[in-house]
Amino acid sequence: MAYAAVDLKSIETRLFVNNEFRPSSSNKTFEVVYPYTKEVVAQVQEADIKDVDDAVAAANAAFPAWRDLGTEQRGHYLRKLSQLILESNDDLAKLETLCIGRPITQFFDAGLAAEYFRYFADAGWSAQGTASLNTPDHLNLTVKQPFGVVALIIPWNFPLIMFALKMAPALAAGNTVVLKSSEKAPLTSLYMAKLIQKAGFPPGVVNILSGHGDPAGSALASHMGVRGISFTGSSATGRKIQVASAKSNMKHVHMELGGKTPAIVFPDADVASAAAQTQFSIQFNSGQICVANSRIYVHESIAEQFIKSFREHFAAVKMGDPMDPTTTHGPQVDMIQYERIKEYLAIGEKDGKLTAGGDAKDGLFVRPTVFEDVPEDSRLMQEEVFGPVVAINTFSTEEEAIAKANNSEFGLYASVFTKDIDRAVRVSKALDAGTVGVNCTSPTGAKDCAFGGFKSSGTGREGLLHSLDSFLEIKTILIKAVARL
Ligand code: NAD
Repeated sequence: MAYAAVDLKSIETRLFVNNEFRPSSSNKTFEVVYPYTKEVVAQVQEADIKDVDDAVAAANAAFPAWRDLGTEQRGHYLRKLSQLILESNDDLAKLETLCIGRPITQFFDAGLAAEYFRYFADAGWSAQGTASLNTPDHLNLTVKQPFGVVALIIPWNFPLIMFALKMAPALAAGNTVVLKSSEKAPLTSLYMAKLIQKAGFPPGVVNILSGHGDPAGSALASHMGVRGISFTGSSATGRKIQVASAKSNMKHVHMELGGKTPAIVFPDADVASAAAQTQFSIQFNSGQICVANSRIYVHESIAEQFIKSFREHFAAVKMGDPMDPTTTHGPQVDMIQYERIKEYLAIGEKDGKLTAGGDAKDGLFVRPTVFEDVPEDSRLMQEEVFGPVVAINTFSTEEEAIAKANNSEFGLYASVFTKDIDRAVRVSKALDAGTVGVNCTSPTGAKDCAFGGFKSSGTGREGLLHSLDSFLEIKTILIKAVARL
């Protein structure tokens, strides 16, 4: 077995509450299955409502001391954790591959996660307010303060990165945390719990639960002891969390949700580069990326050339064992996701024209797939597939391309390929998306720039310069002088 190097018995499977590993109060477990072989690699303890209550209570008890510790002291813990993540790169890579089946050579996640903790170790200093003498006889201030206990709920497609993206700023801002990982990919979060213990964090500051959306996720979303929630996942779950928040204590909600990224390729674009980049965008991680460009609009005059080049890239992928360093295309994460993609393949065949790929009929593999001439109102064009499936349609005018690209309830990312700077600016401005790539597409990003969704793709922004504010609220302090100032 290619992953024999992982000692399955050493994998941590318990919940992490108040700095201690413990079984679930219900003693229920769930399976983690390696998507390549479909073998069970771990039986993980499943958090119940009592475990959620205990974790929130531990985080609430730890909050005042963590908040009052100050940025410098909190930074020491974050810096230590960053170092431990780097030292654990290989273990984390194997665990992530076992859970999600992404080719192990594409694992860059520990470096990015470590960078987040290192950055936020110092960035806490930037939590600043304002001072004002504008009101007679007053010195008025605004200060930024942590919420208290925040819940972090993360998806399975980049588990370690999502963990770090949320955990580092939440802690730097002075909040204490209950994180719930995805039931499909809990192992790296539990490994991180071991590192948190090793880094010496005070008990209760970080609590890590494994479990399903119901009961653990929904219990966090409606918990009266949780004051903020940062969620990354599907738009459908995001809606449920907003409702649960509104029906409980109006906790602050930050949502990073699904996408249906359009890429527009104009006749003056570098066609080879556009084809190479857009194919990588939808093929990487077997298409299981929120920003994957699943819709491509190519000008009718260059469609043939573009599609030919695109299909050649798709045909060159090497499907196989994700632990094999030569593999470039892994299986879908699980049977649920695989079946879901097959449903969209059937829709594509009914509504459009299948011109490359399809079901590999081999385990959970789906070959990188191209559909052409799919009507804009087809479910394939409107819904998130979350697989290596792209629809390529043509356009004749700029207005038509923009209208088609914006004909979606999603608005996470969009891209435009052209050498005409005026058109690049005009189209970027017109596209309904939180990020627009010009002559580049997803997963290209910029760590210091804001990331988040327009429309039903989310609320709020993440990024090195933006995430801290998602975990802070502003208080105004009005100081009236006893005598005239
Ligand atoms: P999902 O919505 O099924 O699950 C996400 C998390 O929410 C999991 O931990 C799950 O257990 C939990 N959950 C489920 N039901 C819940 C409930 N009722 N209350 C509270 N928590 C609940 O999403 P997924 O399948 O894990 O991830 C894929 C989705 O995530 C895609 O839609 C993708 O686009 C999106 N995503 C978005 C971004 C982004 O930054 N915008 C990044 C990665 C993934």
